[in-house]
Amino acid sequence: MTQAAKILRHSRASPAIARAIDDFVRRLARVTEIKHSLTVIVYPRATLTINGDAAFGAFEAGLQTIWVPGDMRKLKSILKTRSDCPAIEMAVETLCHEIAHYEQWRDGRKLQERGVAVRTRTLYRLARKL
Ligand SMILES: [Zn+2]
Repeated sequence: MTQAAKILRHSRASPAIARAIDDFVRRLARVTEIKHSLTVIVYPRATLTINGDAAFGAFEAGLQTIWVPGDMRKLKSILKTRSDCPAIEMAVETLCHEIAHYEQWRDGRKLQERGVAVRTRTLYRLARKL
């Protein structure tokens, strides 16, 4: 059974990004099986540091939690754009990437970057056209 994920927006994270993530999580739940009650945290920064490396997002299997970036101003700065749309898309693509990692874990596969870029694009395309 596919479950809807719970979205938590940090008070300093962008409401527009949180709305887009909420919409896209529902779309993704129609194109892949979400068997666990995932929590998606829209955090109030543009990047996280994981093992010393900067990343836009993360999936933590133990917590069944996904982090996506919610700092609109910083994302626009990184992407060198004045428009909100590319920043929102970056957050949505990060969500797709982390859902691809969730699928690896859900299916008992190794969590790795191999194959994730292709799966991310597929998830994005399938969910976007709904
Ligand atoms: Zn990854």
